[in-house]
Amino acid sequence: MTHHPVRPGLADPKDFLDIDSLLMDEERLIRDTVRRFVADRVLASIAEWFEVGRFPVELAGEMGAIGLLGMNLDGYECSGTSNVAYGLACTELEYGDSGIRSFVSVQGSLSMFPIWSYGSDEQKQRWLPPMAAGETIGCFGLTEADAGSDPSSMRTSARRDGADWVLNGSKMWITNGGIADVAVVWARTDDGIRGFIVPTDTAGFTVNEIKHKMSLRASVTSELVLDNVRLPEDAVLPEVIGLKGPLSCLDEARFGILFGAVGAARACFEAALDYAGEREMFGRPIASFQLIQQQLAEMMMSVNRGMLLALHIGRMKDGGPIDPAHISMGKLDNVRNALEVARTARSVLGANGITLDYPVIRHMNNLESVYTYEGTNEVHTLILGEALTGHSAFS
Ligand SMILES: Cc1cc2nc3c(=O)[nH]c(=O)nc-3n(C[C@H](O)[C@H](O)[C@H](O)COP(=O)(O)OP(=O)(O)OC[C@H]3O[C@@H](n4cnc5c(N)ncnc54)[C@H](O)[C@@H]3O)c2cc1C
Repeated sequence: MTHHPVRPGLADPKDFLDIDSLLMDEERLIRDTVRRFVADRVLASIAEWFEVGRFPVELAGEMGAIGLLGMNLDGYECSGTSNVAYGLACTELEYGDSGIRSFVSVQGSLSMFPIWSYGSDEQKQRWLPPMAAGETIGCFGLTEADAGSDPSSMRTSARRDGADWVLNGSKMWITNGGIADVAVVWARTDDGIRGFIVPTDTAGFTVNEIKHKMSLRASVTSELVLDNVRLPEDAVLPEVIGLKGPLSCLDEARFGILFGAVGAARACFEAALDYAGEREMFGRPIASFQLIQQQLAEMMMSVNRGMLLALHIGRMKDGGPIDPAHISMGKLDNVRNALEVARTARSVLGANGITLDYPVIRHMNNLESVYTYEGTNEVHTLILGEALTGHSAFS
């Protein structure tokens, strides 16, 4: 899978700025391991999974075995890697498919991270090791049908009944919902918004699959319905109250996404570069036409800029606490640029660009979801606007 320069000693078209040289040995090792996993286990079947609308749940254990789940968390049988290593893993996974990366983001950053950060020691011992192994699958229920960009308007509630908690409400657009063993559900209580660990076999908890998606088809997306779900006192995450709980999880996942989107973009750029070199029209490879070269150059620059931005934000996060606005900048810029690369690559492939025989339209459609979830493009723009001006323009 190593790329060779077409001009020895000069820039490699597939790693133009030699960003590889900015990585530490261990990071490169992890990157290569995930790259191999994606090549061996994802690339050959992903078009079919996408077409039939199936997430390959059988890969969960394999991803656990190579340490991808809760990867940047310490202890409880998690790998405890750097944030950059986690990001690079996301890049490689999303080179395969945004749905596969979404599974890893939801499992690690949205389901394990809140338990790891805000759970009791018993909760951590009970849930984190099997989740790290991929034996127990998690999901994260924040969004509701009428509470998307503004989660503070959620209606799902948790009320005390003796020592128990009773949850009512529904959550929408929940990744992994239908395959989850445990859901981290955020609900309104008398004290504020709190997180609950809900085993999905609890009476009153049901799941409806969201069908007819044209994006993230190799990922399960569900509605969660909670109808008088009775949970013991210790189901609540004790260490956080308020929206800062779920928002901190979103920051973790968004960090993975700002790396991941570059992987999708790279896959599209490489597909277009290879195609342009082989496809002949007017008696010449289309790669020899100026207009195609311009599109290839633009895509290459976008992929390299995105990777440099991701790596910089990763190093900042490894260096200490990071301003969430930095993560917003990376998520916004890298996802919108990836979408632009995917659309350009789609055009370079001509009619072939609309089929699943090539990865491009699959990535393009997936990136529409990535553009919307984990804070829309507009939401991140407003976060940046507030960071720049001190004025919140949200409402
Ligand atoms: C495939 C998929 C998987 C998902 N997985 C999960 C998951 O696992 N868990 C989970 O909790 N959620 C999940 N989501 C939900 C996702 O986070 C929400 O869709 C997202 O937050 C946007 O909410 P919304 O769809 O209700 O859009 P809305 O909030 O209704 O937004 C509609 C439009 O209005 C814009 N808008 C909203 N407010 C403002 C404003 N103040 N100023 C300017 N523009 C504004 C938005 O940017 C957008 O363009 C998933 C979504 C998808 C598509």
